[in-house]
Amino acid sequence: MKPNLINGKWEATGHGVENINPSDIMDVIDVYAQAGRAETEAAIAAAAEAFPAWSLSTPQQRHDILHRAGDEILTRCEELATLLAREEGKILAEARGEVTRAGHIMLFFAGEALRQRGELRESVRPGVQVDVTREPVGVIGVITPWNFPIAIPAWKIAPALCHGNTVVFKPAELVPGCAWALVDILHRAGMPPGVLNLVMGKGAVVGQTMLEDARVDAITFTGSQVTGARVAAASLPLMRKVQLEMGGKNPLVVLDDADLDVAVDCALDGAFYSTGQRCTASSRLIVTRGIHDRFVAALAERVSQLRVGPALAENTQIGPVVDSIQLSQDIDYIATARRQGGVLRAGGDTVRLQTEGYFLQPALITETHPDMQINREEVFGPVASVIAVEDYEAALAMANDTPFGLSGGICTTSLKYASDFKRKAQVGMVMVNLPTAGVDYHVPFGGRKASSFGPREQGSHAAEFFTVVKTAYTRP
Ligand code: ADP
Repeated sequence: MKPNLINGKWEATGHGVENINPSDIMDVIDVYAQAGRAETEAAIAAAAEAFPAWSLSTPQQRHDILHRAGDEILTRCEELATLLAREEGKILAEARGEVTRAGHIMLFFAGEALRQRGELRESVRPGVQVDVTREPVGVIGVITPWNFPIAIPAWKIAPALCHGNTVVFKPAELVPGCAWALVDILHRAGMPPGVLNLVMGKGAVVGQTMLEDARVDAITFTGSQVTGARVAAASLPLMRKVQLEMGGKNPLVVLDDADLDVAVDCALDGAFYSTGQRCTASSRLIVTRGIHDRFVAALAERVSQLRVGPALAENTQIGPVVDSIQLSQDIDYIATARRQGGVLRAGGDTVRLQTEGYFLQPALITETHPDMQINREEVFGPVASVIAVEDYEAALAMANDTPFGLSGGICTTSLKYASDFKRKAQVGMVMVNLPTAGVDYHVPFGGRKASSFGPREQGSHAAEFFTVVKTAYTRP
């Protein structure tokens, strides 16, 4: 059984849960200890106790640990990518990309530990100096989803530690393997006891205990809107900082003047790669009439040719859906879209292979209307819908006609439309002639409206969440 890490010690529990491969449900990856309320509280206490010393640790110490961890992740890329593909179902090439990204994030924040910023100001009063500095927040609760099982934990834990905070990390139930590997690497890289704690277990138990405990000073969360709202509601009475990344219903606009090949590539990648299980996936393809039929025909052909298969098989392009619950949700969304008038142009059927897994041929649904369920709710699977519109203005209005606001893209050769879309799309991230998913690790990540709440993640902007500002006045 793989144990939890509490106060620098690996602690097994009486109850373990099997981690199952979604490409082959007979394949048990390992058994992972399940923390309960007592273990979670012990982890929080350890993080609180470790905070004063860690908050005063030197930037060199924090740099060195994160650097060692980043190096090890990159050195062990193939092995970690195999684990990731096996437990989450992402194909090996994508898993390698994600592991590499996690390694780069560690190295970026290793450097960031040495790059403190501050301001020295002259006071408006004579003879007084003002300096503005940033200090760590305290104990950070890190609650993560299953779809990027190493990159999302890395991009929350690395800045937390880099800026001098201590961490209680609760990974998603479906992906304890990558979480355990990441914590093991950081632990051996030299984290002092209590600075980084791992508590695997149920959201309703481990997560809920973290929400209710006033010793947790801030929570960074990625997951569903429902749980995000819970995190916010539990945190407000405690005046606790929160950073919430939730769903998306990301539009990709394709205009008449787009390069057809670029548009089809963007849609295929953005909507279906990583089995569509990305919060930045292009789930609404908004297409002007002049290019609509050509675009749909070309995309439908490419979608029906996508090779669905086990994540570890070299020629697979689309791995399995993560579990049976997600698979039946995807199938229900496709069925409802058809009942409401959508036309299934490609895919949409489950796929039977030699191993039993959760395989679904990506689905392209056309002739959809903006008020259909498929265009209002996040599916989080390999399903995309096409909405036909008259012109750019209608496309922009349609793109913004959603409660979400994470990512949005446009395919066009017009500088005028590209510039206008960059300015007016109500999203946190805009892509021009690029898929809506697939972002850099050194620049801000996040959205607006119902997609995100709180300061941005990643890059130097991460400091806004993981530090508090202090203004000091001195009369020398
Ligand atoms: P998803 O639909 O992607 O699984 P969830 O919001 O259910 O999204 O899960 C995201 C993370 O939130 C997971 O780590 C999950 O265990 C955790 N979680 C679920 N319920 C709660 C809760 N009540 N309190 C805290 N965390 C929770």
